[in-house]
Amino acid sequence: MDAQRTLRRQISCVGIGLHSGNKVNLTLKPAPVDFGIRFRRTDIGALEVPATVHHLAGIQLATGLARNEVSVETVEHLLAALVSMGVDNVIVELNSPEVPIMDGSAAPFIYLIQEAGVKRQADPRQYLKIVRPIAISRGDKRIALYPSDHFKVTYSISYDHPLLRHQSRTLRITEDSFVEEIAPARTFTFLKDVEMLRQNGLALGGSLENAIVLGETGVLNNALRFEDEFVRHKILDAIGDLALVGHPVIGHLVAHRAGHALHTEFAAKILEETQAWRLVEAPLDAVAPLGVPLAVKDSPRLAN
Ligand SMILES: [Zn+2]
Repeated sequence: MDAQRTLRRQISCVGIGLHSGNKVNLTLKPAPVDFGIRFRRTDIGALEVPATVHHLAGIQLATGLARNEVSVETVEHLLAALVSMGVDNVIVELNSPEVPIMDGSAAPFIYLIQEAGVKRQADPRQYLKIVRPIAISRGDKRIALYPSDHFKVTYSISYDHPLLRHQSRTLRITEDSFVEEIAPARTFTFLKDVEMLRQNGLALGGSLENAIVLGETGVLNNALRFEDEFVRHKILDAIGDLALVGHPVIGHLVAHRAGHALHTEFAAKILEETQAWRLVEAPLDAVAPLGVPLAVKDSPRLAN
C-alpha cells in the first residue's frame, strides 16, 4: 500500500495577492490522516474551506473556493504543488482571501514543501483510478480522462497570436517530472488584456515578476524558462484544479484549449460519474474487471 502523507513540520512564507496586490502570509501545517487539504483564514476566526469541488466558487482568471462567508482565491498552483509532492493532508493558513502568487509558478511552493519535508502516515492513500472514459466538450474546448496505469497529462493550446499559436505536450506526472518540467512554468497573459484587468480592479498585484506578458512583438519578460512554458503552465493549472476531486487520479487527462472553468466543471463531473472510476489503495492494484462491483469505502474527503 501507499501511505497518506503530510508535512514533517510547519513552514511559512510571505507574498502578494495577484488581484488585490496586498501582502499575504501563508503557513503550511501538518494534518492528521483523512484530513485532506483545507484552507484556513486566520484573519476571520480560523474558518476553514476544504479544497474540494463541493466548495468551488468564483472561477474567473483563477480557481476560488468558498464555504459560508469564507473564501480563498488562486488556489491552483499551491494545490498542484501539494498533490504532486504527495501531500494528502495539510492545513493551509492564510491571513487574506488570496494565496500569494509568488513568481506565477509552483516552484516556490515546491521549495517550501521540500524545506518542511514530507512524512508517511499510518493509513493507506486512496487513488481514484479511471476505468471508463469521462469527457466534456464546450465548443472547441475539450477535456477528458481515459484509463491508464499512470497519471499522465496531454495538453494542447492554440491562440491567434504571432508568438503563440499552437503548443502541445504529453507528460507522465511523477514527483520528479512535476518538479523539473512543470512547476517552474509561469502563468501568462497578453499585454492587450492587462489594461482591461486593471480597469476591472483585477491583477493589481500582477507584474513581470509574477507573469509572462506577451506583447505583439515579443515577451516583455527577459526570457522564457522553457520554449513551451505556456502549455506547461496549462498542465500545472489542470493538475491543481483536478486536485479538487480529493484523491490522486490514475488516468490519462487530455485537454485542448481548456481553462479553469472547464477544468473545475470536469472535476465535479468526475465525482458524479461513479461508474467511471474506483478507489484503489495502490496505483497498480489489481482492479476488478468491469461490471464487478468493488467495495468503495466512504471517504471523509468526499463527504466534506
Ligand atoms: Zn495558473
